[in-house]
Amino acid sequence: MQLVKHASLATLLAAALSSLSQGAVVRGPAPGSSHEVVEVAPGVYAVIRHWDAGSADGNSMFIINDSDVIVVDTGGYAADARSLIADIRKRTDKPVRYIINTHHHGDHTTGNEALLAAYPGAEIIGHVTTRELAITDGPLDFAAFRKEIARIDQALATGKTSDGEVLTPQHREHLELAKANFSFYIGDNQGVKRIPPTLTITDDLVLHRAERTIEVRFFGEGHTPGDVVVYLPRERVAAVGDLVVQPVPFGGATNLRAWPETLRAIRKLDVGVIIPGHGDIQRDFGYVDRQIALLESTWSQVKKAVEGGANLDATRKAVDGEALARAFGIVSAKDREEFDYTYLDPAVEAAFRALHPTSALLMSGMAD
Ligand SMILES: [Zn+2]
Ligand SMILES: [Zn+2]
Repeated sequence: MQLVKHASLATLLAAALSSLSQGAVVRGPAPGSSHEVVEVAPGVYAVIRHWDAGSADGNSMFIINDSDVIVVDTGGYAADARSLIADIRKRTDKPVRYIINTHHHGDHTTGNEALLAAYPGAEIIGHVTTRELAITDGPLDFAAFRKEIARIDQALATGKTSDGEVLTPQHREHLELAKANFSFYIGDNQGVKRIPPTLTITDDLVLHRAERTIEVRFFGEGHTPGDVVVYLPRERVAAVGDLVVQPVPFGGATNLRAWPETLRAIRKLDVGVIIPGHGDIQRDFGYVDRQIALLESTWSQVKKAVEGGANLDATRKAVDGEALARAFGIVSAKDREEFDYTYLDPAVEAAFRALHPTSALLMSGMAD
């Protein structure tokens, strides 16, 4: 899970608060969130989810074939599954036969249960490690969301953040929107069961549907140990899960040593459409290349610091965040803050821990 801080929209907040205050059955969308469905090739739809505050939500894809539908990732809220089902039914009455999970994180799999309820014949495909991690993770945990709500309440009550920063009206509005989003998350996902893949793969699986070929491929570790890519060679479309996240990759709990190599393998695919786990559709590998350079440079800087005997704090200081951010294309101070929070701080820690296996037990935190 990734808890994010972003700008906000007053109108969305007003709508969110009024829908919450009605006390009716929680429906959706989540406050501060929206989605768009983009047909990226005939019958192939990217579902791009946006959020202005609160919990980061993953993108999806659905593919309408000659006699069935295949869904890739199901979103982080039960509401996502409801809208996904509606978006599919608007276009076809064919049944969903397979749901592919690119990895185990909740922002890509929480809608599994509702999808299965709507399409009882469907089966979930994922990497064997994705199944293991989904099971290990156990039931959905709302503790981080409650903690975040408490932190926001504190800031709203005192007029200051925990860092002592005085809240501006915009910041206050943003916090209220984030709070509405987290509250919605807890309400909407109450009782939702985490459903792991029931059809697991260790490398590749190919589905053949008339003219269409749908490849589920494992290129190696990166964001998690079980990331798979869904590739349609004829349509030149790849849904890559959180191996690619735009505008800033998620740094937490990743395998920075392996990730660039995995992306280089994906880089060899013939694609015209890349659907990232979060963020905008990419039409070429420009963003992926910048991500590869960022990951490699981060890893080598951490490795050098650790080899020189640095502890975690010293490693953080040794890594040149300013140069990394600039090379990645970060310009404004606000984007730099997001870059540090979402990518740099957790990535440096993950790389440091990977180079210090004995301190792995001390590892904590969340990642999506
Ligand atoms: Zn993830
Ligand atoms: Zn994600």
